[in-house]
Amino acid sequence: MTTHPQSHQKWFVGVDVGGTKISTILVDNDFKEHGQLTVTTDLANPDYTLTSIISAIEKTLARAGVHRDEVVAIGLGVPGQVDAQSGTVTLAANLNWYDFPAGELLSGALGVPCFLENDVRVAALEIYRHVSHEGIESLAYVNIGTGVAAGLILEGRLYRGAHGMAGEIGHIVIEPDGLTCKCGARGCLETIAAGPAIARAGQEAALQQTDSLLAGHTPVSTQYVYEAAQAGDRTALELTRRVGQTMGRALQALVMSYDVERIILGGGVTRAGDTFLQPILETWTNLRHGSPLAESLLQTNMIHLSNPNQNMGAWGAATLANHHMRHL
Ligand SMILES: [Zn+2]
Repeated sequence: MTTHPQSHQKWFVGVDVGGTKISTILVDNDFKEHGQLTVTTDLANPDYTLTSIISAIEKTLARAGVHRDEVVAIGLGVPGQVDAQSGTVTLAANLNWYDFPAGELLSGALGVPCFLENDVRVAALEIYRHVSHEGIESLAYVNIGTGVAAGLILEGRLYRGAHGMAGEIGHIVIEPDGLTCKCGARGCLETIAAGPAIARAGQEAALQQTDSLLAGHTPVSTQYVYEAAQAGDRTALELTRRVGQTMGRALQALVMSYDVERIILGGGVTRAGDTFLQPILETWTNLRHGSPLAESLLQTNMIHLSNPNQNMGAWGAATLANHHMRHL
């Protein structure tokens, strides 16, 4: 008699909870994928958002013919501040979740242990799963999108810090007299290098430099700033160089603070690819000149762009679920 090949399988579900969509992935114990699903996030109220997550998980399982009793754990990556211990989302403005006990509510509704973590840290875990075989034990994943934040893996472990805020480099003050950030401070890294900041700078430049390509494309998007830079537009190149210099110095600070051996850049802004990366590498090359310390620590081949087509959020959340079960 043959048994069903999946009858003794241990299943894990990873969920990337975004402000516009929810993506799930179902994997077995060997991290082989058995299904995924993307649905729209219901933002009508916090409970409806939770219901849309539950329904996405149930649909993913039903499609694969997996019963929820067979699921060992579910991981969720959330865009905000998370108390990973209790599963409470302290602050996720995009989801309108404030001190929301999402982990407890989800575990209760599904009858499966659910673990939550900030989405950027979840992505860092996923990257670590891919590079640990290279012997890399300390890395930073830096997301540059609507904000800027880093997820840190130090000596093989996810590093959260005392308040789960380790790696929030988007709020390091770069220009004390700069623009006001959504956190209330002035001149944070996010006010220069995040997507909305680049678009805003592009828009301002378009009004002043009427001979720039940007002037013909108002309102200017972040993507268009990089397209114009790639086409050789001087105004756009000035903007992308400024972003690259600021990011390059922020990444230098990360290396000097944590001595990471790999930096992976992801998020919407990094879709510009080499046009985004080159000014950062040039900044590092300049920092290396004349400084033996910088020369030994800042290797330009340490910085990589993530694969924009890989759903790191959902995969990382599955990795989170797997980690928790192994460490319990
Ligand atoms: Zn800030």
